Amino acid sequence: MEKIYMIPVNDAYSSDCDCPLCALSKKAEENELDYYLGPSLMEPDTRKITNKSGFCPEHLGKLNRREANRLGLGLMLHTHLKDVKEDISKDIESAIPSKASLFKGRSSDYKNKLIQAADKIDRRTMMCPICEKMNNAMTHYPDVITYMFLHDNDFKERFLNARSHCLPHTAVLLRAASRLSQNDAADFVSALYENNTKYFYPLIDDVEWFTLKFDYRNNDKPWGNSKNAIQRAMRFLAADRSDFDEKQSGNKK
Ligand SMILES: [Zn+2]
Ligand SMILES: [Zn+2]
Repeated sequence: MEKIYMIPVNDAYSSDCDCPLCALSKKAEENELDYYLGPSLMEPDTRKITNKSGFCPEHLGKLNRREANRLGLGLMLHTHLKDVKEDISKDIESAIPSKASLFKGRSSDYKNKLIQAADKIDRRTMMCPICEKMNNAMTHYPDVITYMFLHDNDFKERFLNARSHCLPHTAVLLRAASRLSQNDAADFVSALYENNTKYFYPLIDDVEWFTLKFDYRNNDKPWGNSKNAIQRAMRFLAADRSDFDEKQSGNKK
């Protein structure tokens, strides 16, 4: 098992987070954002990729919010826009249907051309080297986690004591367990189930208490763990995203 993946896994399971796989994904993303806003943005090899790919909508937003290396970002966007123009402008132009006339008749060919041009634009706007590298890292981590769980007792302890694993990442770990022997899968999934329920079931009560706090009779009663129950429920259901950050919602009810 490769050490380069084991170190970040250990770090994530030692950190204070709702889901270590969310933490790993976030870390991989942060590294890539740093990389693409750093000096590499000007390196010919990187530029060759980003000129072609640009970034997906999510990561364009995250690059923008960093407010760093505006010049590099501008230069990259300039060459990327030119590349996209070369690639798709002609397709749009040639997709303009000719008017049906008495002599020419109607043809349904124009529909295919329009859809092809639309599909090409969709493919281009979804290309993203950050997503690609994150997906690549995230395909390795689940097998590293099951390996470490089965071979490293300290890690097994950390796994059991993790606060939770969100539902999307529970699914990822179940798939990793399907690649284990039956006995190993039995040990791993029992631990995952135990870890999952100890967070999942109280979370339902926490969200309920959040709603009950709107009742004036409960005004003076303590919040308990409910203050950020909405965001925690969202993170649990959908994995961590910056939209679910308590800071974004002002942590108000
Ligand atoms: Zn997660
Ligand atoms: Zn992306």
